Amino acid sequence: MPDTPSLIRRTPWPQSASRPLGTPIQPSVVYASPDPDTLDAQYGGTVPGYTYAREGHPNADVLAQKIDGLEGAEGGLVLGSGMAAVTAALMGVLKAGDHVLGGDQLYGRSLRLLSQDLPRFGINASMADSTDAAAFEAAIRPETKLILLEVVSNPTLRLADLAAIAAMAKARGILLAVDNTFTTPRGIRPFEHGADIVIHSVTKILAGHSDATLGYVATRDPVLRKAIYDFAVTTGMTPSPFDCWLAERGLYSFELRYDRSESNAEALAAFIAAQPGVKRVLYPTRYDHPDHNRAVAMLGARGGHMVSFELEGGRAAANALTRAAPDIAFAPTLGDIGTTLSHPASSSHRALTPEAREALGISEGFFRISVGVEDINLLTAEFGAGIAAARAATET
Ligand SMILES: *Cc1c(COP(=O)(O)O)cnc(C)c1O
Repeated sequence: MPDTPSLIRRTPWPQSASRPLGTPIQPSVVYASPDPDTLDAQYGGTVPGYTYAREGHPNADVLAQKIDGLEGAEGGLVLGSGMAAVTAALMGVLKAGDHVLGGDQLYGRSLRLLSQDLPRFGINASMADSTDAAAFEAAIRPETKLILLEVVSNPTLRLADLAAIAAMAKARGILLAVDNTFTTPRGIRPFEHGADIVIHSVTKILAGHSDATLGYVATRDPVLRKAIYDFAVTTGMTPSPFDCWLAERGLYSFELRYDRSESNAEALAAFIAAQPGVKRVLYPTRYDHPDHNRAVAMLGARGGHMVSFELEGGRAAANALTRAAPDIAFAPTLGDIGTTLSHPASSSHRALTPEAREALGISEGFFRISVGVEDINLLTAEFGAGIAAARAATET
């Protein structure tokens, strides 16, 4: 006969007249309601309350509210990854027979979703050049239901003609979804430019520390929101409460990190452009950027934290650069607090033929930098050494 309290009964949370400054983490999968009437009212939406974590939990909601505030949205959803957000936005809204039109330089997995996965469900997709509104318009079909864009393309940092595409989408009743991961709401708020759906990989600079994988999707239309929410809950795109907690903590410093990364990026772009052996530098607010005027019109002075550049020389030059810049993490991601460097030809774009890469302007000497918050002198020293080593490797 047990004379100690059951260890299985949950101990009540200790009372405290003071409250924690930090956000609590709530990992509970399930919530106990007082009675069936209350549970019924919770499911009916007349009484607030959580039921089962796959359907929603406090850490996801706290994080979603913060991103909502940045984007000018309400009721945004935090999901288990950026790709979960892209998938829920598309598959929650589209049906067999619909056509989706994407930019031709979307994030690699988004391109794959459009070209490989959606067609298996009878949803056709095609891609067009989103920097060219006429080419984009020509690719619209009678059954086009949704357009998926990124404001700044990966990895060549070209600017979509958002104003023209948003106007044509609106005129034709086509939904416009914008993946705002690269630009962030600090660069542009897509709802103010005609977007119906805004998507983020929170994994990147919003969370900012490469330790949480999360996505976000928001819409101002409650019918669309419910369709996306139900698809995400049914297919189990639940975010981890701990990841949400990490990302929320990361957001406290988002604006500081973004601004510092951006001013570093602008300075680093100028430095790299001045080095011998560099063919070209791509940074949206530079005068030599192919979409400079559009960048200024859309983003003002906000060029963002991404810089791309092309070295003379091939793979040997690229290898020499990463080896001679050991303080710059050569890692296929972006948005980390520290600078990371990626080489599309050996990672995100390795599945393309060399000719297809060349058509996009991605040679073996092409790099994309996600600039972090380091001291700019450290960054110029590392890239200076890397580019000099690349040049030496090309000359031998
Ligand atoms: C990384 C990224 C994604 C995917 O996000 P995950 O969190 O890695 O699933 C989608 N779109 C863009 C633009 C990205 O950079």
